[in-house]
Formats: sequence, structure tokens, C-alpha cells
Amino acid sequence: MNFQVYDSLRRTKRVFEPAEPGKVRMYHCGPTVYGEAHIGNFRSFLFADALRRWLELSGFEVTQVMNITDVGHLRDDDPEGGEDKLESLARKTSRDPWEIAAHYTDVFLGDVDLFRIRRAHHYPRATEHVPQMIAQIEQLIERDHAYVTDEGQVVYSVPSYADYGRLSGNTGDDLLPGARVEVGSDKHDPRDFYLWKKDPHHLMQWDSPWGRGFPGWHIECSAMGQHLLGTTLDIHTGGEDNVFPHHECEIAQAEGATGETFVNYWMHARFLQIDGGKMSKSLGNLYTVRQLAEMGHPPEAVRFALLRSHYRQVLNFTFAGLEEAAANVRKLRHFAEEMRDAAHGAEAGAAPEWLTRCVRRFDDAMNDDLNLSGALDGVFSLLHEARRHEAQGADAAAALAALQRFDQIFDVLRESPAADDAEFAAQVDALIERRAAARAAKDWAAADALRDELAALDVELLDGKDGKVTWRRTSSNANG
Ligand SMILES: [Zn+2]
Repeated sequence: MNFQVYDSLRRTKRVFEPAEPGKVRMYHCGPTVYGEAHIGNFRSFLFADALRRWLELSGFEVTQVMNITDVGHLRDDDPEGGEDKLESLARKTSRDPWEIAAHYTDVFLGDVDLFRIRRAHHYPRATEHVPQMIAQIEQLIERDHAYVTDEGQVVYSVPSYADYGRLSGNTGDDLLPGARVEVGSDKHDPRDFYLWKKDPHHLMQWDSPWGRGFPGWHIECSAMGQHLLGTTLDIHTGGEDNVFPHHECEIAQAEGATGETFVNYWMHARFLQIDGGKMSKSLGNLYTVRQLAEMGHPPEAVRFALLRSHYRQVLNFTFAGLEEAAANVRKLRHFAEEMRDAAHGAEAGAAPEWLTRCVRRFDDAMNDDLNLSGALDGVFSLLHEARRHEAQGADAAAALAALQRFDQIFDVLRESPAADDAEFAAQVDALIERRAAARAAKDWAAADALRDELAALDVELLDGKDGKVTWRRTSSNANG
């Protein structure tokens, strides 16, 4: 195995070698749970899924962590200004921020299942790891990378960390001294950022050595990543919009606190465009994956459409492209049927030369920095070659086996289960009722356990505006 990955920090392709042979520890920046994730977010999540699947297919034992940001992510991606995204919505809608976070966490995990993303091993919630964040902040103060202001806010001192800017190339040295320090700020340097904030109006507050307050967004990822995966992670991924300031700050925190390398390979997925242009709320083209499913697009087609280009290239999403993806999924299923018939029950034999070539093409592309678009060329060359050689018997069985192996990455061949029967419906309704009761009693652990039980049944919950919960089977859209 010679898997090369492009490391955004070292700006070069390198052979991937995990710190511990055979084991991979990786971390992905997850959703901020104040709304439904859009397809741009899902491009990045599907990239992480494909990466995990390829590592597993290559024989690695992978431990995957994706955080759930349920506090501290300030609006406009500007960590120093604006209101907490969740809190802002809570105020606007007079809802409890805890309830909003629980609701959109459910929605997110429902989308994860709907789009056949393998569940991460851990989905740490920021609100459940405040002690770990406080511990890391204390380490930073001890090592002179952070200071406490007169008001009791804790601020990271960027000048104390010489490597700041190495990932993004943005050192902030071009800033005029004081240029971006807002009026009344107590920061020593305009680039400094908050680790622990104080705001008496914030709805979510915790006790800390510096009084009641709440953690900044960046500290959650370095603290939770190291808590669950150890001092040095093999791989850390995110969207390219995470590079600065978020990942730059994560590195400064993690390495400042421990003096050790935080991440051996940084991987970033590029933006997604819609119809060749920007995706934004104001343009009305900020589609959520759920909307696409509700419009009748099979989740497999969406998977295929979001996976088929190289993660380091801008992906242009169009509805014509989505139709084409659906057609390609049908082609692959049709080919699987064709090979199953042609095999006449034979076992897969030794691969003929033409088949070995297709497999090598796929593997070489995947090993070349997860080049999914090149890998798909390998997949479609298999269809072409098998037909050209009129594969029969053991050869056809071998072709089918190769296709099924490719599908361990794309996961689009699987047909969805048939519609529900009455008994199944009754079982699901009973679980939903118990979950509603648990939530009413604020027994979040029980509610979580019941949600997992429902997910295991391939059931997705849809919370109506009137508070009524309906459901559907996660794969019920697959036949469209
Ligand atoms: Zn993060």
C-alpha cells in the first residue's frame, strides 16, 4: 500500500504513514447544530467518509471523531465578533439553545444515515467537554501562550507562538498594529483570539477558574481531538473555509499546550459551487441534503454527485449533474445484474488480465491522494472491458466482485428495503413516543439511546413545525 495524501500544511503529497502501524486516528470538523447542513458541508463530510472507507478497505483500523459544535461558534465565521450562532437563533425564536442543539444534532445524524455515511466512532458535543477545554486553557496559561484579562476573559497570545500562520500563510503580520482590535477590546495583539469568553447575556454558561463564561469555538476541536485521539492525530480534515482562522488556531492551541506536533496530515476539501456560482442563502440556492431528498433525488445519486470529483477541486453542483449521477447509479446497478446473470452461479475465478488492469486503475487513483474521479474512470472501464470481453462464468463473477469492492467506497449499488409493514410502523411509533417522554423529562441520555435505536432500524425522524414527529425509512427514496 502506497497511499499518498496531499498535506495542506507541508504543501506536498506524502506517503501516508500512521504513527502507530495499522491504526489511523482521524478528526473532522463537524456541523454547528443551529440549522440543517447544506450540500457544501456534506461535500466535506462525504470526502471524510470516502477517506475512511478507503483506509479501511486498505486494511487500516480507523478511529474517527467528528465534533458537534453546540456552543461558541460565533456568527459570520468571525470568532471575535458577533453572537453565538446557536444563541442568536435561540433568541430570535425564543427557543432553548439546548433544545435547538439537540434537535439539529438529530437532524444531522439522520442525514448521515440517509446518505450512507459511516457513523464516526465518536461525535463529541462541545457542551459535554468543557472540563477538557478548561484544562487545555490552563496549560496554555501555564506555558505563557495565553493571558487572563482584567475582566477575566482568557485570550491566546498569537505572538507567543512562532509557527502561527504556517498552515494558512496568513500570519497577520501585514496588519497595522491595533488595526483590527475592536473598541474597548482588552487584547494585546489584534491577532489574539478568545479561549474563554465572558458575556452575562450568553444563555449557556459554565463555571471556570476565571468565573462563569463559555469556551471559544477553536478550543473545542483541539481539546476534544486530543482528549479522544491523543496528543498527535494522524489526519485532520475540514472544508477549506476551516483553514483560517479555525485550524490555524487549533494548531496554535494544541501545540502550544503540549509542545508536540498536533496533526501529521492536514486534508482540506475545496468549495462547492452551484451552477458555476456562489452558494448562499441570499441567492436561494443553499440546498440542504434533506431538501434534495424531499425533491425526490435518491440519496445514492446525491452521494455519487458529491463524490465524483477530486476533493481538491471546486465541485460545480447542478441539477443536470445530479440527474446524470442518478443515471450513472442505474448503469452500475444494471451492470451488476448483468454480471450476476452472466456468472450462471459460478464462483469468481482468477482475474483475467483486463480485469486486473481496471482494478489497478481504480486502486492507483485512490492511492493518489484519493482521486475519486480517476477511480471512477477505473469503475467505468470495468463496465466497458467486461462487455467487450463478453465476460461469462467465473470471469463475470470476478467482475461483479470487483464492482462490489469499488462500491465499498461509493456505496450506491445497494437497493433500499421495501416499504414498511404495519408491525414495523407500530414498533417505530412506540419508540418515538418513549423518546418524546424522555425529552420532556430532559433525560437526554435516554433520548439519545432511543434515537440510536431508531437509527439502527433505518428510520429517520422528521420534526414538524407543530411539534409532531413523523418518520420515514432512511432508504425509502432510493428507487426514484
Ligand atoms: Zn474544528
